[in-house]
Amino acid sequence: MRQKLVAGNWKMHGSQQMVKHLLEKMLSQQAPSAKLLVFPPYPYLSQAIQLLAKSEIGIGAQDCSQADEGAYTGEVSAKMLADLGVSHVLLGHSERRQYHAETDALVLEKAKRVLAADLIPVVCVGETLAQREAGETNKVVLQQLTPLIEKLTLAQLQKVVVAYEPVWAIGTGLTATPEQAQEVHAFLRSVVAKVDKELAAKMLFLYGGSMKPDNAASLLKMPDIDGGLIGGASLDADQFLAIGKAAE
Ligand code: PEP
Repeated sequence: MRQKLVAGNWKMHGSQQMVKHLLEKMLSQQAPSAKLLVFPPYPYLSQAIQLLAKSEIGIGAQDCSQADEGAYTGEVSAKMLADLGVSHVLLGHSERRQYHAETDALVLEKAKRVLAADLIPVVCVGETLAQREAGETNKVVLQQLTPLIEKLTLAQLQKVVVAYEPVWAIGTGLTATPEQAQEVHAFLRSVVAKVDKELAAKMLFLYGGSMKPDNAASLLKMPDIDGGLIGGASLDADQFLAIGKAAE
């Protein structure tokens, strides 16, 4: 049985005051049985780590460098994130792919750094609307997943979490139907099963794309949807926790 994981991607939102308010509110309420994880912007990671020190809520970074260390002004390494105390790193989010031209090869290099730092990469895959309309969804997500499957060892793959995020559903209010999402999740799991059946049975596949309290339960009850990657709704403690409860 895979424990559900509900992760909140705060993107470039927040302030110290907002982080305090949001996390204190989350802590004041009963925790769901699903594992919760938040991805604050870099400047607030330390603050979040302190505030969540005694809780079960995990903390991740939204990205990291593909380099180990050195003359890479503005970059943050996986090693530094491990040193700080985060547990997860989000990689290949569609906004990184779109605004920073991140390729599948780059995402693979970053995943290797994250794994070398003993952190868990949460790797996003997903098609655009044009790709879905052209019937290319499986082809696109396969292309995004393949470098990881081909280049990482089985031991490394065991630590990877995959988030299926149809680009057309992120921040748009449009959500994949539970059936559409399930179909892609089942396909992704079948791809992993070709490498190793046991790995496929254990791997977590999260759905992301306008998941809200009112649509979460129907998505999260699908057999291959192991949790959610939540953007907008993760900035509201009540909504985020309601999604966590919907995962139970
Ligand atoms: C995201 O940022 O990964 C995301 C899924 O955002 P939203 O929930 O707002 O669509």
